[in-house]
Amino acid sequence: MGDTNSDAETLLHFEAVERRYGARGEVIAVGGVTCRIARGSFVALVGASGSGKSTLLKMVNTLVEPSAGRVLFGGKDVTELKPSTLRRRVGYVFQGIGLFPHFRVGENIAIGPRLAGETLSPERIAELLTLVELEPEMADRMPDELSGGQRQRVGVARALAGDPELLLMDEPFGALDPITRDALGERVRELHEEFGLTTIMVTHDMAEALLLADRVLVMDAGRLVADERPSALLAGKGGAIAQRLVAVPRDQAEKLAALEQRIARKTHASSPSSGEGAAS
Ligand code: ADP
Ligand code: MG
Repeated sequence: MGDTNSDAETLLHFEAVERRYGARGEVIAVGGVTCRIARGSFVALVGASGSGKSTLLKMVNTLVEPSAGRVLFGGKDVTELKPSTLRRRVGYVFQGIGLFPHFRVGENIAIGPRLAGETLSPERIAELLTLVELEPEMADRMPDELSGGQRQRVGVARALAGDPELLLMDEPFGALDPITRDALGERVRELHEEFGLTTIMVTHDMAEALLLADRVLVMDAGRLVADERPSALLAGKGGAIAQRLVAVPRDQAEKLAALEQRIARKTHASSPSSGEGAAS
């Protein structure tokens, strides 16, 4: 595994973290995960549905408490940090949309600071909307007056409202069309650089993980089974489970390339006299 980060640059440290459910703890959602996340890195967390990705993320911001082990944030056990401190330092984009339907967009963005007893100025809300490439006027809209992509952008703006060090995103773009999804993924990567964030993004899409992240963690049945850079995964490292996930976008790309070749050959054969019709 590629865990080469020294203590000095570790922002987040999972220490043999476990979470069990059920009366006798028979459901193991997360079964002993140990890893360090370096400050400034963009990490993708991938794995099949039910492999424990959301549970692992929720243990960082104490929405879920570990059954064993610890999560250290800046060297401190997250369960010993003040909830208000943790909320401020960790931005969270929920799985699904997660906006309050009866609050305006601006109020949704300001909710975190408001819970901490602060108000965001209209200027700051406008600035956050601009960061996620939305019109400042959107602040007055209701969530159901926005498209899915716009709502997801508001979710990102809300997560950034407290000026966090760590950004956690749980399948943020799962429900979006591919073009919106690509654009938003790239914008999030830019924001990550711009603000020097440390980002963990849960996704079940290996192509998205390979394209956006510096490092890909793969979970299976509650365990971390691979921890590699995208280049290493593409070179065949990370083991069988990781490679099965890599095979999905690769097979698709190969099939598309083969189809394009077939079409090009056919077009070429049927119009020998001129290239004009062939370009379409
Ligand atoms: P993922 O996000 O990778 O889809 P989750 O972390 O949501 O996976 O869930 C991991 C496992 O833990 C699943 O088997 C799920 O059913 C179980 N689980 C998660 N939360 C609970 C809960 N509150 N009560 C009981 N089981 C849970
Ligand atoms: Mg999940």
